[in-house]
Amino acid sequence: MSLQPWLSHYPKEVPPHYPYPKKNLADFLIQSAADYPAHAALHFMGKEMKYADLLEGAYRFAHAIRGLGVAKGDRVAIMLPNCPQLVIAYYGTLFAGGVVVMTNPLYMPRELEHQLSDSGARVVVTLDLLHGKLKEVMPKTPVRDVIVTSVKDYLPFPKNLLYPLKAKKDGLNLEVVYEPGIHSFVRLMHDASGEPCHTDVDAENDLALLQYTGGTTGVSKGVMLTHYNVIVNTMQISLWAYKCKPGKERYLAALPFFHVFGLTVLMNKAVLQGGCLILVPKFEAGQILQVVHKLKPTIFPGAPTMYIALLNHRNLSQYDLSSIKMCISGAAPLPYEVQERFEKLSGGRLIEGYGLTEASPVTMANNVWEKRKSGSIGIPLPDTVAKIVHPDTGEELPVGETGELAVRGPQVMKGYWNAPEETAKTLRDGWLRTGDMARMDEDGYFYIMDRMKDIIIAGGFNIYPREIEEVLFEHPDIQEAAVLGVPDPYRGETVKAYIVFKEGKQATEKALEQWCRQRLAAYKVPHLYEFRDSLPKTLAGKVLRRKLLEEDSAQRERI
Ligand code: AMP
Repeated sequence: MSLQPWLSHYPKEVPPHYPYPKKNLADFLIQSAADYPAHAALHFMGKEMKYADLLEGAYRFAHAIRGLGVAKGDRVAIMLPNCPQLVIAYYGTLFAGGVVVMTNPLYMPRELEHQLSDSGARVVVTLDLLHGKLKEVMPKTPVRDVIVTSVKDYLPFPKNLLYPLKAKKDGLNLEVVYEPGIHSFVRLMHDASGEPCHTDVDAENDLALLQYTGGTTGVSKGVMLTHYNVIVNTMQISLWAYKCKPGKERYLAALPFFHVFGLTVLMNKAVLQGGCLILVPKFEAGQILQVVHKLKPTIFPGAPTMYIALLNHRNLSQYDLSSIKMCISGAAPLPYEVQERFEKLSGGRLIEGYGLTEASPVTMANNVWEKRKSGSIGIPLPDTVAKIVHPDTGEELPVGETGELAVRGPQVMKGYWNAPEETAKTLRDGWLRTGDMARMDEDGYFYIMDRMKDIIIAGGFNIYPREIEEVLFEHPDIQEAAVLGVPDPYRGETVKAYIVFKEGKQATEKALEQWCRQRLAAYKVPHLYEFRDSLPKTLAGKVLRRKLLEEDSAQRERI
């Protein structure tokens, strides 16, 4: 493609091309431990772990899993909330040459069985609280070893994780039965060597991550991300946020690391730049406000729902959020009002970006520090190109027209694991077809209209739920809204809105219909409303549309 209008909107500090290194992704940690050995790498429960100690911990873990027989290319599943053990196991697995399979700790046995069987994971690292679920599915999967850790292992942190038997009597979690194949994290760490352990990789071909996606809309697929894919994306984001100071920033790690957004934008980026990760195992608005007030993070990547929850907290005014200088919002559309209010409150910048697991994940973002366009996902990152194509023919569409967003860049996956047909459908002629409907303006800024499968077709009209959600969001009494197409005997589909009101606020269906009617063409106005206390969401902050649809069809069957 010759036309790349976004290049003239690049900040002068950001190079359009960059020579990314081809090495093991975990080498970032070796470099930061050499540059900043005594800097805090992790902050957890009031204590800090230095870079030198994190590196030693990762080496110990690498030796430990090699001792269990993990060889280059073997998959190791990590099923943990954000905690120090997760970071240690992640880098340790990469040092051992293993492939990390991040696993959502909230998975139910059926989902867990699919992911573990499909990935062929040999080893799983998990919490004592979760290992019962794992034991249930283990016989049906190739998993041979489970490494169990406990919340108690953190205390006193970080000593217990590195020198557990000195700090604790036996280093075992008493609730867990240590039969063959079930190991104690702290005991393994203690028995292993802390000497360097490293695996050379063919960065462009060897996998660093097998990252499952698609669970909110269908059967999840494993996305094969190479060491190079993830190195590139981490560096692209770092180039983009060029004012971040290596060795100085503090990252609020509230996004879960098992989702690729948290993994790359938080964990990989912080470790690349010698930053401190403030680990938060679970998002709870009140607790996050306290953490920000006390620990003064400077960078806070999040999903729109996180910023919304903070803005709506009843004691918001008691907290000082002025340490935050940069927030990047992704995973779902960022409402304009939320962006404005959050920036006013913190004094920092909140910009919208876009990505998907298949691209490690980030492909576009708004300019962090200078001009941006609200409502847009921004422009392509260095070495990334994008275009809008006709979803059926693949033909490139002119500026301003809506079609499927296609992207190309070195952060794009190698393909789906064991799914050549899916891969061929998604990677076409070197372009990643995102499944998102979008348009580009004459400056090269992109705008997401909706996911292709979420588009509502009512009476022959194409309706983008997102547009209606934006209108509902502007209503002063509404905290959150989700819009879906539900079956309708006359129009094929009709528009239904799910609404969560702000605390103490309410509005009638009639008033909401009126509100929409004044702002939208008649065929887009929702006629069905459901008022709720909350919307079902993934831990990464995406509304579970499939769940709402299932509930709607169950309601219909009952009628
Ligand atoms: P995942 O692979 O779970 O990260 O999901 C990727 C999907 O999230 C994309 O295909 C989009 O549908 C959606 N998404 C990500 N960022 C945005 C954004 N800024 N606005 C709207 N949708 C987004």
